[in-house]
Amino acid sequence: MEVRRQIEVSGIVQGVGFRPYVYRLATGRRLRGTIRNTSAGVTIEIQGPAETVQDFVERLAAEAPPLARITSLAIHELPCDDVPCNGDLDFRIVHSHEGEEVRTLISPDVAICQDCLREMFDPNDRRYRYPFINCTNCGPRFTIIRDIPYDRPSTSMAMFPMCPACLAEYENPLDRRFHAQPNACWECGPRVELWDKSGRRIECRDPIVEAVSGLHAGLVVAVKGLGGFHLAVDATNSAAVALLRARKRRVEKPFAVMVPDLRAAAEICELDDAAQTVLQSMQRPIVLLPKALLPKKSPPVLSDEVAPFNRYLGIFLPYTPLHYLLLAEGGFKALVMTSGNLSEEPIAIDNREAVSRLHGLADFFLVHNRDILLRCDDSVVRVAGGITRQLRRSRGFVPVPVFLKDDQPSVLAVGGELKNTICLTKGKHAFLSQHVGDLENVESYSFFHEAIEHLERILEIRPEIIAYDLHPDYFSTRWALQQSGVELVGVQHHHAHIASCMAENHLEGRVIGFALDGTGYGTDGNIWGGEALVAGYEDFERAAHFEYVPLPGGAAAIREPWRMAVSFLAHHFGREFLKLDIPFVRQLNQVKADLLLRMMEQGVNSPLTSSCGRLFDAVAALAGIRQEVNYEAQAAIELEMAMTSSDEDTAYPIKLVPGNGCWVISTRPLFEALLDDLGRNVPVAAISRRFHNGLVAGFVELATLLRKKTDLNRVCLSGGTFHNAYLSERLEARLSEAGFEVFAQKEVPSGDGGLSLGQAVVAAAMMRLRIVPA
Ligand SMILES: [Zn+2]
Ligand SMILES: [Zn+2]
Repeated sequence: MEVRRQIEVSGIVQGVGFRPYVYRLATGRRLRGTIRNTSAGVTIEIQGPAETVQDFVERLAAEAPPLARITSLAIHELPCDDVPCNGDLDFRIVHSHEGEEVRTLISPDVAICQDCLREMFDPNDRRYRYPFINCTNCGPRFTIIRDIPYDRPSTSMAMFPMCPACLAEYENPLDRRFHAQPNACWECGPRVELWDKSGRRIECRDPIVEAVSGLHAGLVVAVKGLGGFHLAVDATNSAAVALLRARKRRVEKPFAVMVPDLRAAAEICELDDAAQTVLQSMQRPIVLLPKALLPKKSPPVLSDEVAPFNRYLGIFLPYTPLHYLLLAEGGFKALVMTSGNLSEEPIAIDNREAVSRLHGLADFFLVHNRDILLRCDDSVVRVAGGITRQLRRSRGFVPVPVFLKDDQPSVLAVGGELKNTICLTKGKHAFLSQHVGDLENVESYSFFHEAIEHLERILEIRPEIIAYDLHPDYFSTRWALQQSGVELVGVQHHHAHIASCMAENHLEGRVIGFALDGTGYGTDGNIWGGEALVAGYEDFERAAHFEYVPLPGGAAAIREPWRMAVSFLAHHFGREFLKLDIPFVRQLNQVKADLLLRMMEQGVNSPLTSSCGRLFDAVAALAGIRQEVNYEAQAAIELEMAMTSSDEDTAYPIKLVPGNGCWVISTRPLFEALLDDLGRNVPVAAISRRFHNGLVAGFVELATLLRKKTDLNRVCLSGGTFHNAYLSERLEARLSEAGFEVFAQKEVPSGDGGLSLGQAVVAAAMMRLRIVPA
């Protein structure tokens, strides 16, 4: 018996080879019908014997192409005539209806696929060693789109007319390159060139071979990638890595390294199954992995300069054809591949821009003439508790939306100040931008504008609401407040963190939220950062916070953790602490310390903070780990790294004190125990562990108290402090043991990179209830 069904498929199913895939699936089963793109995705009509149609439907999602992401399948029975309907005697790919709005989800940029890789290294293939080989399953997307619809003329491939051979592939539904917009070859496509440090083209037979000689000679080569330039050096050559550090003015912040394959990765990092999977995933993020413990006396593979003071290494596999060619040609074990910028500026994308902005940084430029239209940094993830968590969600993930539970109005959320991302919502989709960076510098600020303008265009979203952080001095906030013709909604920083976690986990109602980070503007004008909230999307109550201490010198206290150590000690013990016989006090510069104490006593430039990040700083400084930092959160990261694995289970005590309408988390007993340990020369590893354990125990106790008071059993964890793997894993485990339902962030960062998502959903909820202050 014949049946006819209509199947509506939503999700990322356009521009990813979905129609040819369905074509093959149908014709292979001798089924008749049609497929066409629609505003939501694709619509399939399929007719044939009932069993065969059923088999088709079952395989449809299961065997979809790698880049496709199906969010829903709706199946309707259609009347089935003996005469094939609409004259379908076979299966056809038909054009979209005239005038129909075709809104499609755009695919991110993804790594070269196995098929293309095989062809590229096959001397008999017509694309042998062609650095821009791609197909429907792989290659650039997001970073080459100027406008929609996603067709070649709206991409930076517009200037490369296809040769007859490429065009034939492009037009053949049975070909892997059917409608592959960046399709190209040696005949018709982009080319690589090598430039000298002043941007002059170097005449040579093979630019890749020449670039490799430069790397072997210990020089710095700027390499144009998918989302921007990298600065590359041989990671096994200490002099080369040191040269790059000096030129990039990057003192100690770890560099990421690209390795040719998993075997090379296993030589320098500890790889488990989860790590292998994410390293090889088509998004190819940088993965933070523990450095491999080497047998004593065996020489390290990598230069120690790559990631000093860090037990973890950021590592990734090649993802463009050019990367593979470079690594294979040079036989490198690992290349440092760091963003082509000065520290914290946006990554360079244009050839001429790269030559001017990277002047003095790179000795050579390996460029090409396929323009990158939108910069997109590498993504960074970490595997904790068996789950991959985003630390920086960018290339490979953007612009795949975060799929929400409920429909949202069109909101633009402009994020925070550091690690900025923006977020646009529409329907059940929240589109987070790529990593924009720290808005304090001019280049990032103009990238911020670019990202908003470009995303609004390619996603066709005109925001009705703009959500911003309450901090009056954030550049993003100031920008938002200048906009007109839209509703403007301010959202408290830590409320946004918790809402971001709720949205990602599809939660409704109210939750207990622990938002721990470095800095966020509080509703009382103080600097918050160690907050327990009872929150829903529409509002929150502050249920507890770390006790306030002065932040002596404001931003200077963030750069110099020793100031926070003095602040906490003076707060708890007064000037008496100066008599303590511990290394920190003995080494303290008495003049500077006295100045700092007077500053705090007189309340000059000493705003109050409940920051968890600053607590980490103080403990790190007291433990002798670091008195000043070179990059954000360095002291906290190194405090975490100071732990060695042991079964040490003691914890510094933390006390909960009833305060003004909410609990205050007192750190006094913590510091008493810590000073005691310091006086007894307890090793740093144990101090770090006791400190972490103390925080975990304190927050489990707090959750229990709040559960009694509110009857809430769901706990959301967010804020940059949860990038700390030990704290996240242990707190999640202990809360679960205590019977809580625990929700953390994985799809978006728990740090400020995920803030914009929370702002968007909070603003939408506030507008729905009209509880926005006029
Ligand atoms: Zn491919
Ligand atoms: Zn061609």
